[in-house]
Amino acid sequence: MSTTADHGFLICRDSGERYPLDAPIWRSPATGGLLDLHWPAAFPIDEIRRRPPTLWRYREALPVPDDADIVSLGEPITPLLPHTLPTARGGERSLLLKLDSLHASGSYKDRGSAVLISHCKRLRLPRVVEDSSGNAGASIAMYCARAGIPCDIYVPQSASPGKLVQVRAAGANLVRVPGSREDTARAAWDAAREIYYASHCWNPFFFHGTKTFAYEVCEQLGWKPPGSVIIPTGNGTLLIGAWIGFRDLLDAGVIDRIPRLIAVQTEACAPLARAWRTEAGETPAPTPTIAEGIAIAQPIRSAQCLEAVRASGGTIVTVSEQQITAALGAATRAGLFIEPTSATALAAAAQLGHDIAPEPVVVAITGHGLKAPGTIADALGV
Ligand SMILES: *Cc1c(COP(=O)(O)O)cnc(C)c1O
Repeated sequence: MSTTADHGFLICRDSGERYPLDAPIWRSPATGGLLDLHWPAAFPIDEIRRRPPTLWRYREALPVPDDADIVSLGEPITPLLPHTLPTARGGERSLLLKLDSLHASGSYKDRGSAVLISHCKRLRLPRVVEDSSGNAGASIAMYCARAGIPCDIYVPQSASPGKLVQVRAAGANLVRVPGSREDTARAAWDAAREIYYASHCWNPFFFHGTKTFAYEVCEQLGWKPPGSVIIPTGNGTLLIGAWIGFRDLLDAGVIDRIPRLIAVQTEACAPLARAWRTEAGETPAPTPTIAEGIAIAQPIRSAQCLEAVRASGGTIVTVSEQQITAALGAATRAGLFIEPTSATALAAAAQLGHDIAPEPVVVAITGHGLKAPGTIADALGV
């Protein structure tokens, strides 16, 4: 398939200035601020049904005009698995687990990487840079390997070596930066003056991959929206993607309402939850958490996260380390080997119990347990 790229465009969130989709930019040339991407998504349902079960079946909705540019590692339609959870106040709660842990790199980040790195191939970029201490870096490194695009992945000096194996093994150039996570982001940001920033937070193409989460869930429910969706949230790359996806389906007339988006943070690091509750005073320094995938002290798209939750009629909740460990243990003993970060969503479901409405309730299982066997062993004492 080939469509003209000119009905899509990039748009500066602050000034409204528009840029062509193929401009090699990742932030607004006007303000230096965040860019969004506009793409008129279409859903030819009868054709979609006949296509292979990968996220590329939503072909018309993805901002990669030419098939020749697609970089794919398979991107399966991930299962929506029924699960019953005992709740904190007694009783049981039925859930549908969206097993995004089954992507090639072991996390849903592959949705974003597939679309972003396809775009990078389209732009014929000689090299890209990304910063991440975990799953985003692993996913970008694997898709770059597939595309044959060299990449630099910046990580904090303190990043656990286990999480970096995928990055190294894929042949990416690993750059270790002394200091905090923010120091690493600054170093990548400096490098991005010369090299295209394939950032999962800044680059709007990433979110137009994660949006396929919403498409899949609706198709799996017979092209109907779920009642509520529970999503572990740090930078909000799945939360915002889901919001874009449900909006696309609403705008195209495929669904008639948007589900409640319930974002989950840890008590250890909860800037979005604090902003949601409009808490005054200084933000406390983050404390250690086993849900390291969402320990983001300064999410750059926080305003967008809050907008998505508010506009969907959702909420932002926090869970404690004890709740996360309990949810993780219950999940693994039920045969679900998931990342501790993903267990936050199950902890939230147990906490909310029957206060989550309407049904059905979908829980994003964002990462595979094999990502963090050491953390799981320590947390569960196994
Ligand atoms: C990246 C990630 C998240 C959340 O992503 P944010 O973009 O920071 O909101 C949740 N779970 C896992 C396993 C992740 O890798």
